[in-house]
Amino acid sequence: MTYQNYSLKQLQQIDAAHHLHPFTDHKELREIGSRIITRADGPFIYDSEGTEILDGMAGLWCVNVGYGRNELADAAYRQMKELPYYNSFFKCSTPTPVLLSRRLAEIAPKGVSQVFYGSSGSEANDTALRLVRHYWALMGKPEKNRIISRKNAYHGSTVAGTSLGGMDAMHKQLGGAVPNIVHVMMPYAYELALPGESDHDFGLRAAKAVEDAIVEAGQENVAAFIGEPIMGAGGVKIPPASYWPEVQRICRKYDVLLMLDEVITGYGRTGEWFAADYYGIQPDTITTAKALTSGYQPLSALLVGERVAATLVEKGGEFYHGYTYSGHPVACAVALANLDIIAREGLVERVKTDTGPYFAKALQERIAGHDLVGEVRSVGLMGAIEIVKDKATKERFLPAGSAAVTVRDHAIANNMMLRATGDTMILSPPLIWTRDTIDMACERIAKALDLAKNDLR
Ligand code: PLP
Repeated sequence: MTYQNYSLKQLQQIDAAHHLHPFTDHKELREIGSRIITRADGPFIYDSEGTEILDGMAGLWCVNVGYGRNELADAAYRQMKELPYYNSFFKCSTPTPVLLSRRLAEIAPKGVSQVFYGSSGSEANDTALRLVRHYWALMGKPEKNRIISRKNAYHGSTVAGTSLGGMDAMHKQLGGAVPNIVHVMMPYAYELALPGESDHDFGLRAAKAVEDAIVEAGQENVAAFIGEPIMGAGGVKIPPASYWPEVQRICRKYDVLLMLDEVITGYGRTGEWFAADYYGIQPDTITTAKALTSGYQPLSALLVGERVAATLVEKGGEFYHGYTYSGHPVACAVALANLDIIAREGLVERVKTDTGPYFAKALQERIAGHDLVGEVRSVGLMGAIEIVKDKATKERFLPAGSAAVTVRDHAIANNMMLRATGDTMILSPPLIWTRDTIDMACERIAKALDLAKNDLR
C-alpha cells in the first residue's frame, strides 16, 4: 500500500504515534502536526495538499541540483540491480567508490587526494576527529590531541559531532563530551566587533583567539583546529576576508592541522567547488556530505590531505575505524552522476559569475532596507537576513528567536520555505536557481517581512 491511500490527517496521526523527529519539541509537534511533503520537482516541493512551495533551503542545504533528476534515480537503479551492496573492509572494494575517489581528488583543493566514506556529515566528522588524533599518535606525539573549535559551530549530532560543535543547548543534553575539545570565539563581526573596529581587524582578532588557545595549551598538545568556512546552522556567519588566511598562518606556525567542515559549503555553494578555494586555503582534512549526492542518497566523504594520508601509508598499522556503509556502491554511483550534472550544467561557475552576485544584489536592494532587517549577507547561494527590532541599535525582539519564527511562518504560508535560527533567516537554495527564481524568492520574503512587521509591532 502506498501513502496515496492515506489522508493527510491519517498520515499526521501515524507520524505522531510512531515517529520521533530530529531536533524537534515532540510535545509541540503533537499539538501542531507535521507538514508532510510528498513530492518535488526542480526548485519546488509539494505538500500533501498539493501546495507548491519554493524551496529556499535545498532540503537541508543539500539538493544542489534540484529535485526530479531522473538521471540520479537511474544511476541508483542500475547500481542496485548490478551490485546493491558490498563492503570495503577486508581489502575489498567496489567500482563506484574507486572511481568517485579519483573524481573527488580531481576537484578537491590542492594537496587533498584521498577519501574516507561514511553516510552522514556527523559520521565524517567522527572519522576526522579519530583520524587526526591517530595521525599524531603515528607521528609519536599521542599527547598532541586537543582540538580547537568555535562557539556556535555545528559539526553534527553524534557524540563526537556535538562535542566538536559549539552549540550550548546540545552540550547541555550530552552528559559528557569527548574530552579535550575547546571552543573559541566565532568570527561574526555584526555582533562581536568592537565599536569602530574594522572588519579586517575583527577578523584578525577572531583568528588570534585560535592562537591564544594554542599557546595556552602548548602547541605540543594541540592536534588541530576545526571550522566551517562559513558557519551554516549557526546562522550563515561569514567571516571577514582576513580571518581564514590568518588562521591558516597560525596553524602552520604551531604545526596544528587545519580541518575544514564543508558539509554545507562543499560542491559549489560558494561559487567554487569548495570554500577552501573561495578563501584560498589548503586544509589537511575537508568534511563533506549533503550536496555530494544532492541528498539523493546518504553519503559523506572525508577528503584527506597528503600529509595525513601519506603518514597512514608510510607508518602502516590498522586504523580501527569504519562503517558498514563506507563507500556504499549505490550512494557512490549517485554521487558520480550528481557531480556529472553539476559539471555539465556549469552550476558552480553559474553561482560564481551570475546567480551568486545577483542574489547578493537582490538581498541588498530588496530586503536590506526593510524595517525588520538589521543586515543581509551572502556568499554564492548561501545567505542570511538578520531580524532586529531597531536597525540602528541592533536591538532584538524578545524572546530571542521569536521574531525570526514569525517571519518564517509567514514565508511558508506564502509558499516560500526558508529557515529560522536564532534571530536569523537562512537561505541556501538549490544551485539551479535562476535570476527569476531569486526574484520570486525576494518578493515572497519581502511580503513575509511586511506581514511579520504587523504582528511584531
Ligand atoms: N557539519 C556541518 C557543517 C553541517 O551543517 C552538518 C549538518 O547540517 C553536519 C556537519 C552534520 O551532517 P549530518 O546531518 O549529515 O550528520
